[in-house]
Amino acid sequence: MGMTDRRDQIAANLAKVEDRIAAACAAAARKREEVTLIVVTKTYPASDVRILSELGVRHVAENRDQDAAPKAAACSDLPLTWHFVGQLQTNKVRSVVGYADLVQSVDRSRLVTSLSREAVRAGREIGCLIQVALDADASGRGARGGVAPAGIEELGDLVADAEGLRLDGLMTVAPLTGEYAGRQQAAFERLMDLSTDLRRAHPAATMVSAGMSADLDQAVAAGATHVRVGTAVLGVRPRLG
Ligand SMILES: *Cc1c(COP(=O)(O)O)cnc(C)c1O
Repeated sequence: MGMTDRRDQIAANLAKVEDRIAAACAAAARKREEVTLIVVTKTYPASDVRILSELGVRHVAENRDQDAAPKAAACSDLPLTWHFVGQLQTNKVRSVVGYADLVQSVDRSRLVTSLSREAVRAGREIGCLIQVALDADASGRGARGGVAPAGIEELGDLVADAEGLRLDGLMTVAPLTGEYAGRQQAAFERLMDLSTDLRRAHPAATMVSAGMSADLDQAVAAGATHVRVGTAVLGVRPRLG
């Protein structure tokens, strides 16, 4: 596909997603400006990121450092905010802190320690969202990362007190198993309640990141401030990501 065709395709997809967000905002009596679109660019090339930027997208997300680091470097001239949304190993933190403005997948104290150390070393402030696992098992952790609701307060306090880090809010992925399986809106409403609890101690932690291509409408209905959309903008990913 030529660059012009690709640009047209992405522009058309973006317009459809924009319509969905606008409709969901209208249905919920929310202002369109209350919801920020983050386009998840994982597995797609830097040329797509450049097209998105030209089309007015200002937030992009990645979930694997190996894929994200060279892409962010190739796009460092663009006015973009980079979000890291994948499970994060501590040995990747130094690299991620080099380009990510926000890490949405903070789910354990060791990661907070490591992010803080590297943020200070790099002279950067990293926004952090606590990733909440609404399908957490007895261990208190979710299958795709995240901490159980009971662990949010402790982790939130840790981030808020950590040098180089800023506590921005909560993130979740709608669970495929457990009591919320197939009940995305209920899951997102639960996340909103947890956000209300968190904001009692941390009033500035207002971000609620929820909703992907399949369920962004329910996320907006529940009150999400940020939706993370990949497939609906860029197409079905060529490989698992
Ligand atoms: C891939 C991914 C998304 C986007 O998913 P789509 O279904 O492609 O919209 C959102 N959030 C996270 C954490 C992801 O890994």
